[in-house]
Amino acid sequence: MAKHVTQNLALAFLAGIVLLAILAPVLPLPDPIAMDVMNRHGSPSLAHLLGSDEFGRDTLSRIAFGARASLAVAFIAAVLAGVAGVALGLVGGYFGGWPEILAMRPLDVILSFPPMLLALLTVALIGPGTETLTVLLAILFVPTYARVAFGETLSVRHHEYVEAARALGHTAPRILFRTILPNVAGPILVQFSLVVAACILLESGLSFLGLGVTPPESSWGLMIRGARPYMYQTPAQLLWPCLALVLTVYSVNRVCDMLRDRFDPKATVRWLPVPRTTAGATATAPLPAVGKMLDVRDLVTEIATPRGVIRALDGVSFSVRPGETVALVGESGSGKSMTGLSVMQLLPRRIGRIAGGEILYAREAAEQSAAGGAEARDLARVPLARMRAYRGREIGMVFQEPMACLNPVYTVGFQLTEALRAHELMTQAEARARAEEELRRVGIPDPARRLNDYPHQLSGGMRQRVAIAIALCGRPRLLIADEPTTALDVTVQAQILVLLDDIRKMQGIGLVFITHNLGVVAEIADRVVVMYCGQVVEDGPVEDIFYRPRHPYTRGLIASVPHDGGNADKSRQLFSIPGTVPNPLDLPPGCRFTPRCQAAIEACTKAPPAMEAVTAGHQVRCIRWREF
Ligand code: ADP
Ligand code: MG
Repeated sequence: MAKHVTQNLALAFLAGIVLLAILAPVLPLPDPIAMDVMNRHGSPSLAHLLGSDEFGRDTLSRIAFGARASLAVAFIAAVLAGVAGVALGLVGGYFGGWPEILAMRPLDVILSFPPMLLALLTVALIGPGTETLTVLLAILFVPTYARVAFGETLSVRHHEYVEAARALGHTAPRILFRTILPNVAGPILVQFSLVVAACILLESGLSFLGLGVTPPESSWGLMIRGARPYMYQTPAQLLWPCLALVLTVYSVNRVCDMLRDRFDPKATVRWLPVPRTTAGATATAPLPAVGKMLDVRDLVTEIATPRGVIRALDGVSFSVRPGETVALVGESGSGKSMTGLSVMQLLPRRIGRIAGGEILYAREAAEQSAAGGAEARDLARVPLARMRAYRGREIGMVFQEPMACLNPVYTVGFQLTEALRAHELMTQAEARARAEEELRRVGIPDPARRLNDYPHQLSGGMRQRVAIAIALCGRPRLLIADEPTTALDVTVQAQILVLLDDIRKMQGIGLVFITHNLGVVAEIADRVVVMYCGQVVEDGPVEDIFYRPRHPYTRGLIASVPHDGGNADKSRQLFSIPGTVPNPLDLPPGCRFTPRCQAAIEACTKAPPAMEAVTAGHQVRCIRWREF
């Protein structure tokens, strides 16, 4: 709210001062350079609303004409510098090599000159004046823009969309101006506001020193210069130009921020959520059901998007026993990753929060039935600072793309020893020996040599093994693997599955295996949790899910799994569920699967269905489950 008020005030002020500057010659203002020696330092009156200066000139009129000079110089200089600087930066950043040297090196020369020295030199050579000043300021600020444009261009140069534009055969200028420029426009706009503000200040400073606008023309710097000797007698004469200067600079900055927010899609102001629900003493958290290490109940996770808050998870419940593999399956966007990230409290910062439910985690599963000694925590309410004690040590996580979690500039050995030493105090030599051991455990041949490799020197499968080793090196009791095999080819996928299964068996850890591919699930899961649109739609033992599925969505997922690698009946068309996952901002009122469901009836569109028990361990969210 306050933000909008100050923004609108800034906009109004800037509009006012620009109008005043433009209209100054036609407004009924006294001549700004007409002296009236009888009326020196005149007080405000009807004829001189803001009084008059040391030569009896009208102050309001001089402010208006001064705005003309100050703003014109600043805007023209900022635009000239912007055009030149952005062009140089784009070319240098995009092409690199010689173009970069030619475009960027000369700018360093400008940067190495103190601005005042350059101004003095220029004025000594050419003489003061408004045009000289404008050109001088433009030259001074070319490097500022060029550096921003250069850096931004470098960072987007290799993005897929730039590569795609190149693949389409677009010319370099077209790519530069149509593809890259819009993406770097945000920071450049911010730069523009800073440069305009700096130019206004520099113009005043230089004019104040007699190096800028030449008297008797008016400029704010000249007004300050004129009023300074008399500041004790008539402080107001000093105040007006200073006030005009400060408010204008402030308004320019605010308005440019506003423009950037409005026009840069990447900078869309995100809705900031109210603080996460960290209230409530952790010690009093209820225990997970007997025999369970993780018991998620009615979990609600919200994400703020530019178009509104979505419920990425809407009442998700499932549980994991020690040594059990629970698979979370569902199409992309169903909320599987959000579930894993919620448990780890790794939701996107500032836009994601757990809005309800419980994530009960039992530290010591064996003792938990003995009421007193049990140590249970509601992870949804553990303060972020305390979550560190759980991440890696109690619960480990492996992601789909191992390259994303391995740092490309460090060796595998370095990253593994860092991870080990984050969990336990040990010497470098001990850590190195342990790292070798950890690599061996995840089936990496010749681990001593691999320690010196960088991630890019490893194959995809090896990288995923390293990521698994890092996730396991804190000896967690629960491992969450988010699509750990999706980025790998089929044979490697199978190897990683076997590895995860072996680790689970040998160490008795619980495994939450996230995948969109139900086919993978049959091989390793004990239980399957099927998710759709942020809800669990079916949950049961793996045999029930595969042989007695009750939800049409589960049946659709099963039907779309290729059998026997597709060899037996190649002619058979692979089934795929019609339609797509609905927009989370616009969910159907009843059952969320209705629009795609072939078994939907009128009642399905009315009220959202509840989870119903099919058997003791098998639940489904469908009103027609008895008929299937
Ligand atoms: P899955 O892992 O099953 O493919 P996710 O858990 O990643 O699905 O996403 C669940 C929902 O949350 C989706 O509707 C997705 O659009 C939304 N979502 C996920 N991450 C973000 C994010 N960073 N910003 C906004 N929405 C997100
Ligand atoms: Mg995901």
